[in-house]
Amino acid sequence: MGSTADTAIWWVRRDFRLADNPALRAALDDGAALPLFVLDPALLRGAGTARRAWLHAALHALDTDLRRGGGPGLSVLRGKPENVVPRVAKEVGAARVHAAADFGPYGRRRDQRVATALGEAGRELVRTGSPYAVAPGTLVNKSGTPFQVFTPFHRTWLDHGVHDPASAVRVSSADWRASEDRVDLPPVDDELIGLAGEAKAREQWRAWLARDAEGVAAYPKLHDVPGADATSHLSIALRWGHLHPRTVLKDLAEQRSDGARALARQIAWRDFFADVLWHKPYATTEPVRPEYSKMTVDELDKTEAAAAHLLAWQDGRTGYPLVDAGMRQLRAEGWMHNRVRMVVASFLIKDLHIGWWHGADWFMEHLRDGDIAQNQLNWQWVAGCGTDAAPYFRIFNPLSQGEKFDGDGRYIRRYVAELADVPEKHLHRPWEAPDGVPAGYPEPIVDHATERQEALDRFAAIKE
Ligand SMILES: Cc1cc2nc3c(=O)[nH]c(=O)nc-3n(C[C@H](O)[C@H](O)[C@H](O)COP(=O)(O)OP(=O)(O)OC[C@H]3O[C@@H](n4cnc5c(N)ncnc54)[C@H](O)[C@@H]3O)c2cc1C
Repeated sequence: MGSTADTAIWWVRRDFRLADNPALRAALDDGAALPLFVLDPALLRGAGTARRAWLHAALHALDTDLRRGGGPGLSVLRGKPENVVPRVAKEVGAARVHAAADFGPYGRRRDQRVATALGEAGRELVRTGSPYAVAPGTLVNKSGTPFQVFTPFHRTWLDHGVHDPASAVRVSSADWRASEDRVDLPPVDDELIGLAGEAKAREQWRAWLARDAEGVAAYPKLHDVPGADATSHLSIALRWGHLHPRTVLKDLAEQRSDGARALARQIAWRDFFADVLWHKPYATTEPVRPEYSKMTVDELDKTEAAAAHLLAWQDGRTGYPLVDAGMRQLRAEGWMHNRVRMVVASFLIKDLHIGWWHGADWFMEHLRDGDIAQNQLNWQWVAGCGTDAAPYFRIFNPLSQGEKFDGDGRYIRRYVAELADVPEKHLHRPWEAPDGVPAGYPEPIVDHATERQEALDRFAAIKE
């Protein structure tokens, strides 16, 4: 297809949208743009089934949106980015490749390799914007060092402010190119057709903002109640860049309500964890607090019960209703409510004594919003080994958490069919019901009080 001196490449990585997209704007400012996605075997190997499926649906949605303007659509190629990107740039004579900066450890290494390969051919990788409201590495504390604690980070984040959304691109009047070497788009799972993509994300976000009950106004009151399903569900759209946080924060600023401010604060947590990982790339696998590497965990291949416990947790068959509901929601929907994520993570680490990284791996396999910075650092937060983490000795009680946040059992009944008819009085402790646990539902696999003490003893040992 067309090869002109002023063609630029728009390299899509996790920013599947046309609106509020400075890298796309920059590519079009060069002249014609070739939208490129590289199916990178190194990334696909590590991506879980849920994220791979969402990726395929997101590719289709973006391709459709691009074709709507009459252009040739998205060019998808397979291979190592450091080979593919320079090859396509050469094919169309692009001097510049535009992308939003990637701040994850793998993305940084990959982009360095691509920049070097492009540079050798006299071309340039131009990084414009980021997937965050405030890019990692931007904010430092008064002594010029990275923030370790969220609250002062948040204060500085508020003072720093956020850019306005980038101006919209007119798809039909832009000049688009495609690569001769592009491959067919991977097939989309039936259940995801029409679910992924910018248009759907925008529609859902607007609908949530307009909701009377269980929308933004009720967020401070209801965000911890999993049965109410009163959170924004933005995480998938933000993970894939169907929406940019800038756009979301602008909409929230216009609301001027406590709910809007509370939600914006959560988006600052997203920036905070990305900032932490930018400064501490080892945190994907190593504890931020080094003393925690001495913590005794039940090794899957050495402790008899550990492998069975992990399996029961993954399958939602621990005998603890809130934990099981959460793990089943994850499998069924590729998403889990935040309060329940904390409870199931605490249960794996502090009741089953299994290393947090096993839980983080399972989440990355099954979450559609699975994101290395958000996932690993939230797991470290629960484990107590992250920066600004919950103290290790604060152990979630899976029973009282259920009673407090799912008192009427709406959430548990939704996901644990065996408990659907258990009266509210016994729902959180079904083994105390006169007839015992209902058929098909397990007895608790461990005793919480005993394991809580065990966790505290192990914690005391690393503090000695
Ligand atoms: C063990 C564990 C693992 C997690 N793994 C991920 C993950 O892989 N990807 C991911 O996006 N989030 C992760 N989270 C954070 C949080 O649970 C989800 O972002 C949230 O549940 C998504 O639902 P929502 O969009 O309705 O959130 P809302 O409550 O509506 O919040 C709005 C947005 O704020 C951000 N946010 C909210 N809570 C957090 C938080 N604790 N940390 C960082 N950002 C937050 C998210 O971008 C979210 O979409 C994890 C939390 C825990 C405890």
